[in-house]
Amino acid sequence: MLLPADYHSHTPLCRHAVGEPVELAARAVKLGLPELGLSDHNPMRRDDFDEWRMRLDQLEDYVGRVEKARRTYPNLVIKLALEVDYIPGGEDWVRDLAARQPWDYFIGSVHYVSDSWALDDPKRISEWRTRNPWDVWSTYFERLTQAAESGLFDIIGHADLCKKFGFYPREDCTNLFTRFLEVAARRNVAIELNTAGLRKECREIYPSPAFVQLAARFGVPITFGSDAHAPEEVGMNFAEAVELARRSGYTHCCRFTRRQRELVKI
Ligand SMILES: [Zn+2]
Ligand SMILES: [Zn+2]
Repeated sequence: MLLPADYHSHTPLCRHAVGEPVELAARAVKLGLPELGLSDHNPMRRDDFDEWRMRLDQLEDYVGRVEKARRTYPNLVIKLALEVDYIPGGEDWVRDLAARQPWDYFIGSVHYVSDSWALDDPKRISEWRTRNPWDVWSTYFERLTQAAESGLFDIIGHADLCKKFGFYPREDCTNLFTRFLEVAARRNVAIELNTAGLRKECREIYPSPAFVQLAARFGVPITFGSDAHAPEEVGMNFAEAVELARRSGYTHCCRFTRRQRELVKI
């Protein structure tokens, strides 16, 4: 099976990943991936925002490291991207970042469901036990839908990240999914099939099979991402992700160059 591009990977600049872009690229070449996208966590306007992203003064260093990987592996297509936190009210900062470098794409991700709580932070799992999962999931999808509506992103990251630690609401979440997918389809934004979920407590690709089937029905395009935080995670479980996409009715995924989209067969 020809594997698709891996559009979600991180570097040591975010302070919780290992492996330079050249090392990730070496792994991508070894696996025969057609493309690798570097999409490290975006810097914030204030460096004291949290401790799991690059500092603003490291942005050029980040681009330089990606360029070094391009020079080292000229036969591998390497994309320059960011995984950008969507925070309501932070839209101007995303536009500011977008103008700073020749980005190929932006992944818009929701991690924060309040000013101070990132729901996927392993150090803050205890917060889940003080909250009703339905409230957290509702807020998460409300923000995810706003991210899709904003027009700031090419791809929406790990669209049901709220399942990471296995805190599921008792309520039926279909309406949360369809409200988001309706907006994603109308605003022409892709979602990613992110295999990192298989490595977490939820043991499932983000988003779930039921979600991916709905996404196909809404005509929302897809990309694939390992969310690699280490070289050996590049392209991990991609055969399973492609299988899920095909089973759900997808025949194509997309790739981005300087924020222009093309469709590629899977
Ligand atoms: Zn990360
Ligand atoms: Zn993320």
